[in-house]
Amino acid sequence: MILKSKTAVITGSTSGIGLAIARAMAAEGANVVINGFGKPEDIEKERASIEADFGSKAIYSPADMTRPAEIAAMIALAETTFGSVDILVNNAGIQFVSPVEDFPVGKWDQILAINLSSAFHAIRASVPGMKQRGWGRIISTASAHSLVASPFKSAYVAAKHGIVGLTKTVALELAIHGVTVNCISPGYVWTPLVENQIPDTMKARGLTREEVINDVLLDSQPTKQFVTVDEVAAIAIFLCGDAAKQITGANLSVDGGWTAE
Ligand code: NAD
Repeated sequence: MILKSKTAVITGSTSGIGLAIARAMAAEGANVVINGFGKPEDIEKERASIEADFGSKAIYSPADMTRPAEIAAMIALAETTFGSVDILVNNAGIQFVSPVEDFPVGKWDQILAINLSSAFHAIRASVPGMKQRGWGRIISTASAHSLVASPFKSAYVAAKHGIVGLTKTVALELAIHGVTVNCISPGYVWTPLVENQIPDTMKARGLTREEVINDVLLDSQPTKQFVTVDEVAAIAIFLCGDAAKQITGANLSVDGGWTAE
């Protein structure tokens, strides 16, 4: 158990990739703070099952990633409950698909806030403690869309390119403090985020559901398979280990070869 006595905060971890990362970190002995939206009873079920399955402590922060004060409060809650934030996983993210000329201004602002600015606010609040202790891991879930674009995803692609720049900058600032800062960039992972964008992509491109899955989503991935949430979580665990301590400022692709093309 490589994360015993560490505390991990994982944003957007009531579902999908974030939940898999939270469970993987708890399995390695970390105390975890889960965060995100959902029905209170479903969230409580996930929280309790982390404790029951792994014997680690899990608490829930309802912080809304569009609100800087709530993000700071989430980091403070973790520090007062467990004594530190050693691992920060910036994972919360949403998608919206629309031609740029029709892209709703409010959606642009919301995507930039959740997918990019929330990472800045959480990093800003976590870094003093990490520097003081001389150890930390900051991991952001970026995307293949941090390296390449797809039409109709202007806000998402801009935010994901942005998080790579933020990662490189903070990696340089923290390099001598024992804190590594990296992105993981999955291709298409079968989660609610992907499932929910299928109807809009059908509309934007005039395609059927099957055509979107096979000709748009899996067409990008040479392996012709979706990435799994557990495959992404395994990379996050690897980045927390000693073997990865010289990996910083990197953007690790887990995309079935998508961005090799
Ligand atoms: P998901 O929809 O399953 O999970 C998103 C999580 O973010 C949920 O817990 C949700 O409640 C939370 N969230 C949304 N808005 C929030 C807010 N304002 N404040 C706090 N939490 C909020 O999606 P996922 O596919 O697991 O995506 C997780 C991350 O992975 C995102 O950053 C996404 O861009 C990225 N990603 C996903 C894929 C994919 O194919 N699924 C590919 C590449 C990158």
